[in-house]
Amino acid sequence: MLGLMQSQQLLISSLIDFAERHHSEGEIVSRRVEGDIHRCTYKDIAKRSRKVANALDHMKLGFGDRIATLAWNGYRHLELYFGVSGSGRVLHTLNPRLHPDQIVWIANHSEDQVLCFDMTFLPIIQAVHSRCTTIKHFIALCDADKLPADSGVPGLVSYEAWIAAQSEKYVWPAFDENSASSMCYTSGTTGNPKAALYSHRSTILHAWAGALPDALNMSARDSVLPVVPMFHVNAWGLPYSAAMTGAKLVFPGPAMDGKSIFELIESEKVTFAAGVPTVWQMMLGHMQQGGLKFSTLKRTVIGGSACPPAMITAFNDVYGVEVLHAWGMTEMSPLGTVCTLKNKHTTMDAADQMKVRLKQGRGIYGVDMKIVDEEGKELPWDGKAYGDLLVKGPWVIKEYFKGEGGSPLVDGWFPTGDVATIDPDGYMQITDRSKDVIKSGGEWISSIDVENIAMSHPAVAMAACIGMRHPKWDERPIVVVVKKPGAELTREALLAFYEGKTAKWQVPDDVVFTDAIPLGGTGKMQKTKLRELLKDYQFPSA
Ligand code: ADP
Repeated sequence: MLGLMQSQQLLISSLIDFAERHHSEGEIVSRRVEGDIHRCTYKDIAKRSRKVANALDHMKLGFGDRIATLAWNGYRHLELYFGVSGSGRVLHTLNPRLHPDQIVWIANHSEDQVLCFDMTFLPIIQAVHSRCTTIKHFIALCDADKLPADSGVPGLVSYEAWIAAQSEKYVWPAFDENSASSMCYTSGTTGNPKAALYSHRSTILHAWAGALPDALNMSARDSVLPVVPMFHVNAWGLPYSAAMTGAKLVFPGPAMDGKSIFELIESEKVTFAAGVPTVWQMMLGHMQQGGLKFSTLKRTVIGGSACPPAMITAFNDVYGVEVLHAWGMTEMSPLGTVCTLKNKHTTMDAADQMKVRLKQGRGIYGVDMKIVDEEGKELPWDGKAYGDLLVKGPWVIKEYFKGEGGSPLVDGWFPTGDVATIDPDGYMQITDRSKDVIKSGGEWISSIDVENIAMSHPAVAMAACIGMRHPKWDERPIVVVVKKPGAELTREALLAFYEGKTAKWQVPDDVVFTDAIPLGGTGKMQKTKLRELLKDYQFPSA
């Protein structure tokens, strides 16, 4: 017997329809490439998304055609989020931090038809447009009078001119909720990048679960600053969850430095911000120097790579901001776990509570997890056994775009490539990427643990731990360190700092000081690059 309730497809267009109807005055504030602050409302975004949809129809673009963006976080990008997907096309958010050759490869692989870009990226477009063989239209996200007379890009039009003549009226098409809505390529540290192709259904369910109180806890009373880029797994779904809840959205545009972010948080009364640890590192540095405090920020979600304990403590103890440590990946839309406390943790002393907060968190409803040993046998949730982490759920990948790399699933589960423990309360903790695991004398050493200790030293700005081939122990950890500006620190002092903080054999064998650790397109430390840079490294005692 079937239920007798209405069957309605879960479509992204319903989010902007909802926001327009119920939160028409909800604000969208953007720092623009032009440098000024732009203000509009969900009502404006809704109208202009419909103009985008009409403009795409006008170009005779078909259902499922890919429309690419190369853009910062801002209101025009948001309009494309709704206009492109809502009209049945697929939004492909390109990562501008990639090498131009990779951008060309990806645009050709996804067969993009249109590319909308911020003027910051005009030099990239000038360099690559002739090699992007499927792109028929280039659109600059600016006013008509901001287009240079000779851009060198054939047929270039401004976004404002493109949508100006279009009607604000548009009836969003109804279609199967399993249709593709957007896509995002993984960084591809090995081999060619592969794309996760999200559906309307997966996107809505992910946004719904992400907004829950024990996940990101979003509401109409929030002012949300996604520092995480909209080209990085749809800014962790925040634009969708914001429309779903009517939260105010604040977009930083290209200004991601500590000062600009701090100013925006204060001027727009931001209550909730999201970003990778490296961004917050810059902001905290700026705040420390100027003795600054937040007046409205309540919580911040930090993920993408492990959040150092020192950062959680600084946010919490010095600035009164709750850190939500979160874990996920492109293949998971990306949210998998968020570290929010259970009742029993709220009465714990600070040190024990910190042990929980450091974990990557509990699975949110919709994501199932398990850890397995080398034979694929499931391991207990005892907080000690560690193994390969696998996930499944309605917003977890089934297959990569165009079937690249074959089926990634093992018995219906997606292997994340992370190694983790899960405790009896369901809190998952990543010990490593499987390829970064350090195996010393048959025992595993967590590079994240080694990094976290270094990062808690007041003179350390950034630390990366990597395993080096060792004649006796197979591999031994060394830690590569960037000092804070003007700080003094010696190798011996940092090694001594590890004493009592971890088992002796887990203390790194050496410290290498450097000016900068290579970061990838999404702000993560690139350990493969670091290993290349250190290929001639020799242990001091060897
Ligand atoms: P995202 O785009 O969401 O950062 P990627 O697909 O680029 O995702 O990378 C996902 C990987 O990043 C994860 O498999 C994991 O190794 C790492 N990662 C993400 N969040 C965390 C976290 N909180 N702690 C440790 N590692 C993390």
